[in-house]
Amino acid sequence: MSSRFDIIHKDVAGRIGRLTTPHGIVETPTVMPVINPNLQTVKPSEMKDFGAEILITNSYIIYRKEELREKALKDGLHALLDYEGPIMTDSGSFQLSVYGEVEITNEMIIDFQQKIGTDIGVPLDIPTPPDVHFRRAEEEMEITIERLKAARKMVAGDGMLLAGPVQGSTYPELREGCARTLSEVGFDIYPFGAVVPLMESYRYADLVDVIAASKKGLDPTAPVHLFGAGHPMMFALAVALGCDLFDSAAYALYAKDRRYITSRGTYHVDNLKYLPCSCPVCISHSAEELKKAHNCTELLARHNLYVTFGEVREVKQAIWEGNLLELVEQRCRSHPRMLDALKQMYTYSGWLEELDPASKSTFFYCGPESSKRPEVLRFGEQLDRFNIAGSALIRSSPVKSESLYDNVLVFKPPFGSYPLELAEIYPLNAEVLRAPDHESLEQAYLNTIRLAELNPDAQFTFLVQDRSDHPLLKKLGGMDNFTVVYSQSE
Ligand SMILES: [Zn+2]
Repeated sequence: MSSRFDIIHKDVAGRIGRLTTPHGIVETPTVMPVINPNLQTVKPSEMKDFGAEILITNSYIIYRKEELREKALKDGLHALLDYEGPIMTDSGSFQLSVYGEVEITNEMIIDFQQKIGTDIGVPLDIPTPPDVHFRRAEEEMEITIERLKAARKMVAGDGMLLAGPVQGSTYPELREGCARTLSEVGFDIYPFGAVVPLMESYRYADLVDVIAASKKGLDPTAPVHLFGAGHPMMFALAVALGCDLFDSAAYALYAKDRRYITSRGTYHVDNLKYLPCSCPVCISHSAEELKKAHNCTELLARHNLYVTFGEVREVKQAIWEGNLLELVEQRCRSHPRMLDALKQMYTYSGWLEELDPASKSTFFYCGPESSKRPEVLRFGEQLDRFNIAGSALIRSSPVKSESLYDNVLVFKPPFGSYPLELAEIYPLNAEVLRAPDHESLEQAYLNTIRLAELNPDAQFTFLVQDRSDHPLLKKLGGMDNFTVVYSQSE
């Protein structure tokens, strides 16, 4: 089967891609606004105006209501929604997870989705919630895999794309194994299912584990849908981990609860004195006017959509420029649980490093977490490439005496020490703190110790230009081929 997903630009595990569907090409990463066929706050035909390229609706809701079902079968899904672009349909799995049963079978809902002309169909998988017993997660995952295989046999050719949802609850080994099995069968997109409960309880670090495990089982070029993720606050993080598609019911659900979304978090509209946004809704209303508007729900839904797609474009621009991790580090400072997620993400730096382009725009040090970035890890792994013989001066900024040495090395936290010739090369041309923090110094000292160990015949002189009592500096000074000299700025 030929792939219908082309990657055109990459940063970390994130990418800008093009997904080809029967109703057109979708540029990812993007968000699919969820359309409730029974209740539309914003009309599907208007969604393009906000930046939407693809919508998602629920084929099970359409199937269950005779009037909708008949129209969809007769005129097609696109006529039913009055929308000509790509449409993905969910299968009723969500209803299955909430109510415990549904009135359809996997075969029925796949057949129905094909007949109404959906662009991306989803089999009736079982969304296993987090933290269930391992046996249950495994059994339900096996049923899901069987149903997905049956669906794969029913859907062929270049018509409807078929999604293969990855399940496995909060067990990384199940998620990875499930993804690997589905990869072998071959699907057009891979939703990561049943993650909504993790997001609702702010378990973003656990979400990182689920995404990383599922991604590891997939071909890295396969498109991924983080099912149920619609808050712009976490787009950058999820994209950096390799997610391409999101869906937002949040824009409408939050609006119904009078909640106002921003890329940093959510406000209750009744607590807003000012509107911190310049979308058409927010520049034409004051906070008071918005609160009192008879159509407040609709206005909030519109604002929420504008903000959602604004963040999508921000993320895409960051990928384009190669500074997605800087954006992730900023967004992850909007909530302590997001900061937990950032730290968790950097525990996967080894994996991210394999996917991350080796050269991009300038590395910006954004805080202690930046010391764990894939680029820093990669630098540490490549220290054995530096062969240093004779005398070597390690310094932070140029000094007069450096012509007396066989080698001049630059000391720059969080990387460590490297030959002067490399100073302008990415990522060593990084913008870093003038007064390095503890974490970046620790990483730099560790790498410098390793460099001295790798070159036992060289004689290093480390000119320390800032007073530092870091314990690793003492360790450096105690090495046979290493002398630490404190300078009063030459
Ligand atoms: Zn706004």
